[in-house]
Amino acid sequence: MEKIVLGRIGEIALKGLNRSTFEHRLATNMRKAISDLGPAQIHWSQSRYFVEPESDDFDIEKAVERLSGVFGLVSVSPAYVTDTDAEKFFDLAVRVARERVEAGAKTFKVETKRGMKSFPMNSPQISDEAGGRILDAFPQLKVDVKHPDFTVYIEVRERSYVYTEIVDAPGGMPIGSNGKACLLLSGGIDSPVAGYMIGKRGVAICATHFYSYPYTSERAKEKVIELAKIVSRFTGPMKLIVVPFTDVQLAIMQNCREDLSTILLRRSMMRISERIARKNGCSALITGESVGQVASQTVQAIYCTDNAVANMPIYRPLIGMDKMETVDIARKIGTFDTSIEPYEDCCTVFTPKHPKTRPNLNEVLEEEKRYDYETLEEAAIDSVEIINI
Ligand code: ATP
Ligand code: MG
Repeated sequence: MEKIVLGRIGEIALKGLNRSTFEHRLATNMRKAISDLGPAQIHWSQSRYFVEPESDDFDIEKAVERLSGVFGLVSVSPAYVTDTDAEKFFDLAVRVARERVEAGAKTFKVETKRGMKSFPMNSPQISDEAGGRILDAFPQLKVDVKHPDFTVYIEVRERSYVYTEIVDAPGGMPIGSNGKACLLLSGGIDSPVAGYMIGKRGVAICATHFYSYPYTSERAKEKVIELAKIVSRFTGPMKLIVVPFTDVQLAIMQNCREDLSTILLRRSMMRISERIARKNGCSALITGESVGQVASQTVQAIYCTDNAVANMPIYRPLIGMDKMETVDIARKIGTFDTSIEPYEDCCTVFTPKHPKTRPNLNEVLEEEKRYDYETLEEAAIDSVEIINI
């Protein structure tokens, strides 16, 4: 009995002439996600992808778990496959029902999709017949079309597929189908979510992290590496560029007004990230800012921060979201528990007591003249540490 993984696409199906570019990209990304599980064939037709193992020890459950994180797929199912022969798929329907009955299920229904219109039975007839055979085999089972314990899905195509499980996948566009952007990744809750959201639109990601040793600990950096690893489960391998930021921070602290220090710091992060982004083939920056969340994210503060970036758009996918909405996504993608570990971040170490919430750009620019940011930023860029995640 052959078992495969069935994948379904969402938005890709809406693409027009360039649809096949997206489809090929998705197949490549799926292949990468399961490459260590053994050889498998991947092919697709209409809105379905078929992952067919070529060895007996291929771990289907693990493949389902991996593929449920691949952008471009909306759901995946472990499924049995057989020739399109009614007797064969009815046998399979009874077989998958047995697995569920043995696990304690008491009610079920059958849903059929008939992709092959020439097949002599229509969908309701197939469902009825399959339901009848399942009831014959397990007389204690009951049909419940509204809230069944399980559903037997039968898809009748060139070959036929039978399954009971549909696992959600994130949807979106396949990574690499839409350029590359540089994520400013802190150890907080927001920026990993921001990276995930832009990655979901098909954008490949690299990341910068600003690090103020010894004011922030080695453990704080490890936390960021851990976050990058979790995000990379969805986005694929990512280059993390750790920027030593202590000298910039000290210069701002020693030379500039305390109430503007956070804005000056953020402008410096943006300038450095823009240059690193360009070097790495990125066409945008990504941050986890949300308007009004903290003093450095008021409308006026974001205006002053934006102004530091000369020639690159800044994507802020969380800009209109509440913290609670962001936390929901952080939990879903698995970054939340790591984000709330209590390690200090370079921004928190130097937080002023009374940051100016409505900074004026001219006064910020005046204040910025008080330290030699160009030399310091150049030096920081020259001594970055590159970590391949
Ligand atoms: P987060 O939860 O992502 O840390 P936050 O709400 O704490 O965000 P800030 O600390 O003001 O907000 O940071 C705003 C954004 O600036 C972050 O989402 C992130 O994109 C970027 N950022 C902040 N600190 C760093 C850092 N040390 N390294 C890289 N990027 C940073
Ligand atoms: Mg933060």
